[in-house]
Amino acid sequence: MDHVLGFKCSLCGQEYGLNEIEYVCPKHGDAGNVDVVYDLPRIARRWTQQQLAGDRDYSIWRYRPLLPIEPDSPALPLQIGWTPLYRSQRLCDHLKMPNVYIKDDGRNPTASFKDRASAIAVVKTRELRREIVTTASSGNAGAALAGMAASVGQPTVIFVPQTAPEAKVAQLLMFGASVILVKGTYDQAFDLCLAASREFGWYCRNTGYNPFTLEGKKTAALEICEQLRWQAPGRIFVSVGDGNIISGIHKGLKDLLALGWIAKMPKLMGVQAIGSAACYNAWRDHTETITPVDAQTIADSISVGLPRDGVRAVRAATQTGGAYLTVTDDEILGAMRVLARQAAVFSEPAGATAYAGLVKAIRQAMVEPDETVVVLVTGNGLKDVKSAIKAAGQAQYVEPSLDDLKRLWNKA
Ligand SMILES: *Cc1c(COP(=O)(O)O)cnc(C)c1O
Ligand SMILES: [Zn+2]
Repeated sequence: MDHVLGFKCSLCGQEYGLNEIEYVCPKHGDAGNVDVVYDLPRIARRWTQQQLAGDRDYSIWRYRPLLPIEPDSPALPLQIGWTPLYRSQRLCDHLKMPNVYIKDDGRNPTASFKDRASAIAVVKTRELRREIVTTASSGNAGAALAGMAASVGQPTVIFVPQTAPEAKVAQLLMFGASVILVKGTYDQAFDLCLAASREFGWYCRNTGYNPFTLEGKKTAALEICEQLRWQAPGRIFVSVGDGNIISGIHKGLKDLLALGWIAKMPKLMGVQAIGSAACYNAWRDHTETITPVDAQTIADSISVGLPRDGVRAVRAATQTGGAYLTVTDDEILGAMRVLARQAAVFSEPAGATAYAGLVKAIRQAMVEPDETVVVLVTGNGLKDVKSAIKAAGQAQYVEPSLDDLKRLWNKA
């Protein structure tokens, strides 16, 4: 892996060789998230935009020279990433903004953005020859890890809060993971998973804590820029829970800037549910001290009391001239309806949160009407049917007779 130099602590800047640490900078306990450091000049000598343009592998593996995996590690036999970037005319008309793009990451193998991170984690598990890979998850990260692992027969143990939506638990069971339902919150599942991985020697994918999840997540930024022919958008809206997706998007863009493949840094807009807004609070208060909250929102995937990648997530907005926004659960449900009805993108609550943030940013005149804006939709609506019905309303019943149907139809 001569294209990877090692790790660098995001808090104190200490650098480490690849084999010196496994997860975090030891000086800060579990909070010392580290960045993977690449030899970008070396990568630039070997890899050109022209070469990439000729690559027919439309998945995250097309960015392998910029991923922290061995050059000869087998890719997973699944189509991960290269999700569609839509410009829906109807949605643009609805918003009176001509250049709004939806990146539909619900179109991944396990129907969420998390496949990007879990794919890299499974490849690392194989490289490190670890018997078991584990993660805590509000549902999607676990489903993604279980699915990615099933593609190569890798055993997994997944910790989810017992309140996780049924569909996500069904995915875990279906993919053959050992499922541990924790009678507590996601944050408690996270800490239990950490303790278990230490006790049993399992490889831990926990979001943010494992330095490679962010590297998988950055592939979405690489795709967005390639799909826009290297004209980087003005802004990217991202829903934020642990803050690892927005940090990954930021990292991908920094890599592209360093390679000279894009000319400017998009402004990153983090969107949180008002009941789970620890990153927003820190951004608003101009601090890198992340104060935990009592998380409560319908958007289970971003219901996080203590964001595990909070510092980098706040920097993603401050260092790019972006911002943080909060939205209510009702605004999230409304965003789900609009995305489905104007753009035919069916999203889970956390998936539509970024769009709710765009609506709020427009209302607050934070965006120019002609800006190019990308909204990341991070998870499919079938993940959480209960919330979808809450957003869409119930259907009407009819007796199996034309008369009854007429009565109903004429009333409508
Ligand atoms: C995990 C997740 C998020 C948030 O990602 P973080 O890295 O936790 O900020 C948003 N939406 C969906 C659907 C997710 O599964
Ligand atoms: Zn450190």
